[in-house]
Formats: sequence, C-alpha cells, structure tokens
Amino acid sequence: MGKVIAIANQKGGVGKTTTSVNLGACLAYIGKKVLLVDIDPQGNATSGIGIEKAEVEQCIYDVLVDDEAAKSVIKPTSVENLYALPATIQLAGAEIELVPTISREVRLKRALEEVKDLYDYIIIDCPPSLGLLTINALTASDSVLIPVQCEYYALEGLSQLLNTVRLVQKHLNQELKIEGVLLTMLDARTNLGIQVIEEVKKYFQDKVYKTIIPRNVRLSEAPSHGVPIINYDSRSRGAEVYLDLAKEVVSNG
Ligand code: ADP
Ligand code: MG
Repeated sequence: MGKVIAIANQKGGVGKTTTSVNLGACLAYIGKKVLLVDIDPQGNATSGIGIEKAEVEQCIYDVLVDDEAAKSVIKPTSVENLYALPATIQLAGAEIELVPTISREVRLKRALEEVKDLYDYIIIDCPPSLGLLTINALTASDSVLIPVQCEYYALEGLSQLLNTVRLVQKHLNQELKIEGVLLTMLDARTNLGIQVIEEVKKYFQDKVYKTIIPRNVRLSEAPSHGVPIINYDSRSRGAEVYLDLAKEVVSNG
C-alpha cells in the first residue's frame, strides 16, 4: 500500500512544487514507484514534469468534480517509475464548484484509494491556500511534509497551517501525521539562514529534516526544461540534496 504525502504550506514560493517534483523524481530514481498528484490550479508540477498543459484532456478537476476514475487520468512521465495526475487551470473552478457537493472533503481520498496499492509513494503538490483543495489533500494523506523557506518570518502562518492539520485530524483524517519540516532555499552566506534554522528547530525539534535545501540556480532552471533536477543536472548540489531527502523520507518509514 502506497504512502500518501501532502506537500503543504499556504505561503506561496516556499518550495512546495520544487519539492514535490524533485522528491517524487528522486524517490523514483532510487527505485520506488511514484505518483505525483498536482492539485494546484497553476499546474506548475504538471509542466515541471514535462506535461504540456494545453494537451491535457482530462485532469484532476475531472476526478474531483466529475467522479472520473484517477486511473484513466494518470499519465506516465519521461522519468522512469514516475507517473502524474495533472492539473490545469480548469481546477481553479473546483474550489467553488465543490462547495455544495456531498462529501466534498473526501473526494481526493476516495479517488486515490482506487490506485493507492499501485504505487510506493503518492506525493500531492498543494496550492498556496488552506481551502478545499488543500483540505482534500490533507484528508487523503498519511502525512504532511511542510517546506519552510529560510527567510524572515519563516514561521509566520505556520500556526494556521498546524491548526488546519489539527482540524483535519479531528474531523476528517485521524491518522494524519506530520511527515517532516523541510528547510528550503538556504543562503549559506547569510547569518539569517542560520538563525532561521535554529528557530525552526526549536519549534519543530526532531521533525526537521537533516537534509536542508540550499538555494541552487539549477533547481530554478530545471522546470523550464520540463524535467526534474536529477535529469537536468544530476551532478548539481540541488540533485544531491533532493536525493538525500528522498533517502531520509524512505528511512523514516
Ligand atoms: P511554491 O510551490 O511553494 O509556490 P516553488 O517550488 O514554485 O514554490 O518555488 C518558488 C520559486 O523558487 C520557483 O521559481 C522555484 O524555481 C524557485 N526555487 C525553489 N526552490 C529553490 C532552490 N532551492 N533554489 C533556487 N530556487 C528555488
Ligand atoms: Mg507551487
């Protein structure tokens, strides 16, 4: 049975999509079968993995809103062992269209249950909000991985996120765990980064991954080529650290 991990933080630009794509690809690289689920209407994970959004006929919208089977929407990617459940801008309507529907919070969970045993890991790239799409992701997941950018106000907003996690645990998914907190975009040349690491470790303690993702320009270039870092530049620091993260995720069980 696959493990489902939501990559969530309602702040934009903290590295959710970069982590979803590259953790997913690195897990695939070390031999795991991985499904990357894009539930952000921006569809950055979809294009980042090389799927042309204009050519996507059915996407996660059809699964969530029209009860389409996940199996018929999942696509292979150019990366061995890595599959994708794509998102297009059509998904932007789902947040509102789902509101009056029955069991609106558990739609993704039900859809993924049908395919869960086909994969070792299912990684869900969440949108930058705590709306119904993120609630669907948290409800469908075994755990949540929280990327935190090494910046001023790193912890800002995290209490809201943790509060949402607690509400989901209470009402929708008792089994939901915190998978880990990932420090991203560290600029090792500044003291600020070090301060943020200490602050986040004080707050989350052993939940913080040993692997810290530095700023690496290759990581920001890869998406425009539609490939994960491990395929774009396997010798870059970015590839190394996401491979370390994948191993850490596996060893944490
Ligand atoms: P989110 O999904 O949380 O909005 P992204 O993963 O899209 O965040 O990252 C925001 C921007 O920062 C993107 O342009 C991405 O390419 C870039 N980026 C993410 N992580 C790194 C990193 N470690 N080093 C350099 N650029 C990064
Ligand atoms: Mg994103």
